[in-house]
Amino acid sequence: MKYKSTRGGVQGISFKDAVMMGLAEDGGLLVPENLPAADIGYLHSCACKSYESLAFEIFKLFADDIEEETLWEIVKESYTNFDSGEIVPVVHKDGIYVAELFHGPTYAFKDIALQFLGNLFEHILKERSEKMNILGATSGDTGSAAIYGVKGKDNINIFILHPSGKVSPVQELQMTTVKSENVFNIAVKGSFDDCQAIVKNLFSDLEFKSKYNLGAVNSINWARILAQIVYYFYIYFRICDEKSNGGKNLRFVVPTGNFGNILAGFYARRMGLPIDKLVLATNENNILHRMISYGDYSVKDVVQTYSPSMDIQLSSNLERYLYYLYEEDSETLDKKMKELNDEKRIHFTEEEINKISSVFLSQESSNEETLSTIRNFYNSTQYILDPHTACGVKAAENFMAKDNCIYVCLATAHPAKFPDAVYKAIGKYPERPEGICKLNDLEKQSYVLNNNTDEVKYFIKNILEEGDKNAG
Ligand SMILES: *Cc1c(COP(=O)(O)O)cnc(C)c1O
Repeated sequence: MKYKSTRGGVQGISFKDAVMMGLAEDGGLLVPENLPAADIGYLHSCACKSYESLAFEIFKLFADDIEEETLWEIVKESYTNFDSGEIVPVVHKDGIYVAELFHGPTYAFKDIALQFLGNLFEHILKERSEKMNILGATSGDTGSAAIYGVKGKDNINIFILHPSGKVSPVQELQMTTVKSENVFNIAVKGSFDDCQAIVKNLFSDLEFKSKYNLGAVNSINWARILAQIVYYFYIYFRICDEKSNGGKNLRFVVPTGNFGNILAGFYARRMGLPIDKLVLATNENNILHRMISYGDYSVKDVVQTYSPSMDIQLSSNLERYLYYLYEEDSETLDKKMKELNDEKRIHFTEEEINKISSVFLSQESSNEETLSTIRNFYNSTQYILDPHTACGVKAAENFMAKDNCIYVCLATAHPAKFPDAVYKAIGKYPERPEGICKLNDLEKQSYVLNNNTDEVKYFIKNILEEGDKNAG
């Protein structure tokens, strides 16, 4: 399997090179040159064995430059830190299936991909005798999942910037209590945007970037999408094995921010998994809902909601979908991305709008609706939704009233990660899983720095040069 850039400037690179490149060198995103067709019957039989068996079979199709034995080791290692042997348990509540993607070490769905990516990086770096320094900014979930993905791994350091005092208490604890020599939390005296700006400045400092081999773990890395394709198959097979579901169409509802999660569903569908439609759920940052339901893709300001991981306007992974919308024509895509950059909007033709709605449906939840969904769902089922998942359940309820399909809502976070929103909705706090309870007893460690690129740069430099001295 070879990979190319959506913009056409990179072609014929291997899976391992695609993982290490992250963002394509021409500014586009890396995609497989040819999408393999899934052998549904065979994958179904693998899914019956275990989540890991299914993951292995799907990864094999995309990562044919990793020896099978090694790949199997990587897969096994990547799913050992989950608190459910099923990895993705599915519950049935009030006529809706809820697929719990939050059983990894940081209790949000990003663990499913970042545990795998951390192991992949470690394997490839070792093979190539290279070192890598991951640098990222986070407003919460991604930073902690990335830290848990690479802590203790050889040849990797990770520097995560977060706005000092401005991430949720659980998220701060998750990031700063990891005791590992390769993990550095930087609390910047500023906002999340300031953190992002510093990271961007350091990545554009090409001398610094290449000297320290800076790498990113953001959601545009192909390996993250790949890891997420697996659970669409897994969940599909589990639900279709239930006799009562025979013959009904199945739809996935996906709480969406950067379009990474739902894009994996799009790939699963394109590989032949008979998903009827993908339902995209947004909060008040509704640009993708406007795109799908009205063909209106125009950028507005980001507003803060109860579901902060979906407070996004420009979804970094949408470009991959647009590439297929434009029939894999890099030239058209390139033009459209420029249009977006200049005009802050993309214009879709009638035909394109029809094509979008043949795959996607969408629904927006206001802040009030998010809370009332948590409340009503709790009252009728005793099940507590997190505010992101609530946007999905709201969408499922809306469409369920109109047809006879099976709806599966992907639950993207454990409610205990967002206790304040839950408390507002139902007047009580969700029970905390053991992995969150025990964080309170641990010591927090972070370095507080000023909102200043040079200060962060010298901090990183000092750490890495000290490390080199100690190493030899
Ligand atoms: C990251 C995240 C999302 C959004 O997922 P995308 O892949 O960015 O669309 C939704 N919910 C939670 C809890 C998340 O952490």
